[in-house]
Amino acid sequence: MTVHFPFQNSYSALPDTFFARVAPTPVAAPRLIKLNRPLAVHLGLDPDLLETPEGAEILAGKTVPAGADPIAMAYAGHQFGQFVPQLGDGRAILLGEVIDKDGVRRDIQLKGSGPTPFSRRGDGRAALGPVLREYVVSEAMYALGIPTTRSLAAVVTGEHVIRETALPGAVLTRVAASHIRVGTFQYFAVRRDTDAIRRLADHVIARHYPELSGAERPYHALLAGVVARQADLVARWLLVGFIHGVMNTDNTSISGETIDYGPCAFMDSYDPAQVFSSIDEMGRYAYANQPRIGLWNLTRLAECLLPLFSDDQEKAIEQAQEILGAFPDAFTRAYQAGLRMKVGLFTERDGDEALIQDLLDAMAKNAADFTLTFRKLGDAARDAAADEHVRAQFIDPAAFDEWAKRWRERIAAEPQSASERQAAMHAVNPAFIPRNHRVEAVIRAAVDNDDYAPFEELVKVLAKPYDDQPEYAAYQDPPLPDQRVLRTFCGT
Ligand code: AMP
Ligand code: MG
Repeated sequence: MTVHFPFQNSYSALPDTFFARVAPTPVAAPRLIKLNRPLAVHLGLDPDLLETPEGAEILAGKTVPAGADPIAMAYAGHQFGQFVPQLGDGRAILLGEVIDKDGVRRDIQLKGSGPTPFSRRGDGRAALGPVLREYVVSEAMYALGIPTTRSLAAVVTGEHVIRETALPGAVLTRVAASHIRVGTFQYFAVRRDTDAIRRLADHVIARHYPELSGAERPYHALLAGVVARQADLVARWLLVGFIHGVMNTDNTSISGETIDYGPCAFMDSYDPAQVFSSIDEMGRYAYANQPRIGLWNLTRLAECLLPLFSDDQEKAIEQAQEILGAFPDAFTRAYQAGLRMKVGLFTERDGDEALIQDLLDAMAKNAADFTLTFRKLGDAARDAAADEHVRAQFIDPAAFDEWAKRWRERIAAEPQSASERQAAMHAVNPAFIPRNHRVEAVIRAAVDNDDYAPFEELVKVLAKPYDDQPEYAAYQDPPLPDQRVLRTFCGT
């Protein structure tokens, strides 16, 4: 039996200015190191067949499955504020689209599958480390309930890629609602190709915002829709301590999924100014700067859509500004609502925002672990004896005691039982996040020793981030001082 992909491709039916047709480059000796079996089933694929040598060849780009229409997508983008008129898939190839069990169209893309017309000086390849990082973190995000691209498989190619040293090459199979980015619109805007912008916008509305297709002003509604999803997405990132690291417009998905896990990281101790990415020297994409950058990226999208808004440019700009103006409120609403849930408030009262901000300030001042503080606060909501575990997160535990008094007075005004509150808090405050030192350890074991047991275990633990999983309690721990990861790398 051969592996069957039930492809139903739509993007490759768009005009040929949208992409370049290009097949993956065959690799020497593909070996499957991870298949996401539940995801395969969800996509209508047979996981047993994907685990055969033929399956590994497909997932490595050595064999192109029937029905695939491999393309590299064209896009542009602002990278750290600098506009690049042509980026495109330089190391990724879209095999095609399938309709998943929920009826949602999903891209199946190979990342690291060889050069394309968009590769510029790159080799079109990916190293094993970044592939494992993307697998771990994207699947962790999914389990946390945050919109994200997913990882179907990782294969090693049997070849080396040359970075600072020679590293094992790998291919990640990425699954996304689509790979259309703000930068895709920018690609056509800089070429003043208004027909293409309209074609792309129509495709996006039909695919990601079908409820808008009957709107009186569908393109305005599209911008408003993307603004709403991005505001919500960035709020969710902040609520779990996630730092994307490269929030360029080419890494900003139109569907509202988190995309492109390069030098991303979850913070350990709370610090709003935190930056991990080695290439983010100015702190442009620091944790607390992400909402501002989200709006900046959406403003670039709005500029692309102006010709669809009105022939009168001034009018179009005014309309765009009004739509963009919804972002700060939408973000703040989602973020504040999320914070209230994190501290176990079921209702909204004057003074809540200040109460929560005082906790965050105390956490920042006392280098409190972001994840553990909230998780243990859930236990403290049930039983004050657990306060010890929250206090332990603070350099000066007294900073928590003062706050806890005010917090207890506030929650006492609500009728919910202690265990109800704990359960609600545990449902939003994960016990397990992909801590950097764990991710690094997994990569080291795989790259240095061809040992994937740590990777498997980490993936397993992170699939249930809101469960206590006492047997894996050590995975909750922040790094020891000598385990701390201060910098993350794109590793492209
Ligand atoms: P990224 O930093 O992953 O968002 O990539 C930015 C741009 O660089 C995209 O156009 C990528 O396709 C391209 N790129 C990154 N790594 C490579 C590589 N190894 N070979 C070719 N193109 C690459
Ligand atoms: Mg990218």
